[in-house]
Amino acid sequence: MFDSPKLTQDSIYINGKWGPGASGETFDVLNPATGEQLASVGAGQASDVRDAIDAADSAFSSFAGLTAYERAGILHTAHRLMLERADDLATLMTLEQGKPLKAARTEIKYAADFLIWFAEEAKRVYGSTIPSARADQRFLVLRQPVGVVAAVTPWNYPVSMITRKVAPALAAGATTVLKPAKQTPLTALAVVKIFEDAGVPPGVVNLVTTKDPRIFSNEVLASKVVRKITFTGSTEVGKLLAREAANTVKRVSLELGGHAPFIVMSDADPIHAAKGAALVKFLNTGQACISPNRIYVHKSVAEQFLDTLVARTTKLHAGNGLDPASGVGPLIDQPSVDRMQRQVDNARDNGARVLAGGSRLTGDEYDNGYFFAPTVLADVTPEMDIYREETFGPVAGVTIFEDEDQVVEMANDTDYGLASYLYTNNLKTALRVSEQLRFGMVGINDINPTSAAAPFGGIKESGLGREGAAEGIAEYLDTKLIGISI
Ligand code: NAD
Repeated sequence: MFDSPKLTQDSIYINGKWGPGASGETFDVLNPATGEQLASVGAGQASDVRDAIDAADSAFSSFAGLTAYERAGILHTAHRLMLERADDLATLMTLEQGKPLKAARTEIKYAADFLIWFAEEAKRVYGSTIPSARADQRFLVLRQPVGVVAAVTPWNYPVSMITRKVAPALAAGATTVLKPAKQTPLTALAVVKIFEDAGVPPGVVNLVTTKDPRIFSNEVLASKVVRKITFTGSTEVGKLLAREAANTVKRVSLELGGHAPFIVMSDADPIHAAKGAALVKFLNTGQACISPNRIYVHKSVAEQFLDTLVARTTKLHAGNGLDPASGVGPLIDQPSVDRMQRQVDNARDNGARVLAGGSRLTGDEYDNGYFFAPTVLADVTPEMDIYREETFGPVAGVTIFEDEDQVVEMANDTDYGLASYLYTNNLKTALRVSEQLRFGMVGINDINPTSAAAPFGGIKESGLGREGAAEGIAEYLDTKLIGISI
């Protein structure tokens, strides 16, 4: 699948054909652990995006006309192929994204789950009948595919963020034009190859790699044919896309940034909670939208919690994800390293204590990559940048609290509303506090409240709509009312 990584890859897939794109221009894909060039891929231009939209438009009617069983069959095949290719895909993901191989394999499994989940959901797109106030009238409600969908995905989960969008679109009968992040086009290419090999008809899934994302978004946003945009990425870009989508009244799904609180109540097991915090905080080198960004620990358990968190953090070995000894990989690029350092320095200058890490890793294998030491900060306060800004890196900031009302207020004091975590052994506290947390997801003694079967998404400035679950396919369906006089 990926024998000659240095070769220029035909990365633009339009109407069932791979090519370099109209201009023949390319951009390089780099390994964030070593700085090495992995490959060059096509730098798609506006005309490529327009061709992809045309292909998706032409393919729409016949694809929507397939039976749900036929579309489910394609998704089942894609699921099988993804699992068969899991090792190659995971290696490719580690090379271009950096996460340890074990984590890459976990992501492939998670990504494949969306294929099989939506293969089954395709058959459950139920309409309804509604009683009319008139005896001579009947109402039928149909749910039909939305049409051409533009999908924009990030680099941090480069395979699962694609299947989370494309699988429900295919299940619903919609066609797609996909643009992956410029850092991770190679895994996107491999995923689209799976769709091709699974029998997705030409034009139904199209891929345009670009160096400049505005080339893609300008075209899809201006197009009247594109009826929906689905985006995972930063809140800043999500707002921009939503504003521009309004011009043609496109449907919009947004999975944006987060600033998750991680609350450890006085009755929680502080050691269990600290182990959970270390696992979820340093997952993907902290580059996850559900990564805890503010850790609140009750004063009575703070010492035990911090001791365990620091011990776990200092034990974590940062390194190239291909090395089985690496528990945490590099950051994606230099600006990410700079952001870590700025947030840590700002916190330290404002009185935080650095209990582990605190700076870039240098020397030997680290010099050419973007490695930052897994870091623990204590005494974090609302005045510090890290308390407000999404960190998106391996820095765990801890704040002590004394009272339940106070911690709920602090946890909700953010414009974000994606994930939140609560550790407590008291059922009443668990329910009371989780009902008050203004977030789309709450993990109670649980660091991974996600699954293809569960609705993932945020409120407030963390997003619109849900991915996964029954809600996930609804995002790609329009509702049509048919009134009949009899
Ligand atoms: P980003 O917004 O910079 O990029 C995401 C995607 O948008 C990429 O494909 C990028 O090329 C594209 N993009 C960037 N600028 C664009 C523009 N002006 N017009 C059109 N497309 C544009 O974000 P990122 O740095 O790649 O990812 C990190 C962010 O994504 C974090 O904020 C993180 O929390 C968020 N994220 C959210 C979820 C979720 O499910 N809520 C999941 C993963 C990541």
